[in-house]
Amino acid sequence: MHKRLFIPGPTEVHPDVRREMSRPPIGHRSQEATALGASVIAQLQQLLHTSGPVFLSTSSSSGLMEAVIRNGSRQRFLAVTCGAFGDRWHAMCRLNGKAADPLEVEWGRAVRAEQVRAALATGRYDAVLVTHNETSTGVLNPLDEIAAACREFPDVFLFVDAVSSLGALDVDFEALGADGLLAGVQKALAVSPGFSIMAVTERAVERARGIENRGFYFDFVRHSDAYDRKQGVTTPSTSHLYALDLQLRRILEETMPAREARHRLMAERTRAWAREHFALFPEEGYESITLTAIRNTRGVDVPALNRQLAERGAVIGNGYGRLKNETFRIAHMGEIRLEDVEELLGWIDDILGLNR
Ligand SMILES: *Cc1c(COP(=O)(O)O)cnc(C)c1O
Repeated sequence: MHKRLFIPGPTEVHPDVRREMSRPPIGHRSQEATALGASVIAQLQQLLHTSGPVFLSTSSSSGLMEAVIRNGSRQRFLAVTCGAFGDRWHAMCRLNGKAADPLEVEWGRAVRAEQVRAALATGRYDAVLVTHNETSTGVLNPLDEIAAACREFPDVFLFVDAVSSLGALDVDFEALGADGLLAGVQKALAVSPGFSIMAVTERAVERARGIENRGFYFDFVRHSDAYDRKQGVTTPSTSHLYALDLQLRRILEETMPAREARHRLMAERTRAWAREHFALFPEEGYESITLTAIRNTRGVDVPALNRQLAERGAVIGNGYGRLKNETFRIAHMGEIRLEDVEELLGWIDDILGLNR
């Protein structure tokens, strides 16, 4: 039996979108492939509110995160982190031999714009790395305010990991004034895993031209050429392009404001349930709308709970890394609807005897 995914990625994929993935391959330099690439890019530009370049990458999101590290800074990165995915940004800098400092915030808390502003005022940095929605702690960082702080420093480029927010929150790339924003397709965009996308500015591509050792697969300059041609840098997963093309059409038909409202409703319902029976992990006012991270105040055996949920056809997320069992996570993103959330919470109530 398929277990409905209430984990923070991958998420449920609509059957019509899954079916798109089984189309026969086409030549990746054919006119058909170019038309497909152009359609996907045009829809992504609409979704992201940008008229600039959009990169398509046959890799998970971490690939494009590494692209940012290889191409994004001449001087030193400020890696802002309040959880495991922020830590990943900083680790990638180190592993690629790039100069970087972390700006660390306690897990469960959100990053504040003033902290970023104070760090940038030192003049040490030419690029900032930020996680929009920190999936490990269920914290939604105040991206608009952080981006506004970055805009006070026109030579500093802001790069955003929007992996678990894009497709749920209506993100306006040009209004943010960021130089790069990336996401995988397997979270709130609700496509099968293995593909990722990124909006960049022309000036980010220009900066990359002057940086050495950008590598091959994740070179911004190569990706920019591919964007111009509406083709892959190398052979892309055309299966993902077909699926993404349909799913983007579905998302834009639902409209982003409606989609964001739907996610807020699911998050509010899950938080109310969690407050009644447990407690929330994130600090108040900064809770994610795509997943709810819950303090396991009842000492519930999370793997055992998941074994019982599996019999009903569902799975939830345990805490991430060192938060395992101390917290657990219920994701409500992408194709999940309020009815699904109600059904899941009812099952957990039954299994744990919460309403007796
Ligand atoms: C899932 C996730 C990633 C990693 O994505 P992959 O597609 O597995 O590489 C990075 N950042 C955030 C915020 C995530 O939620």
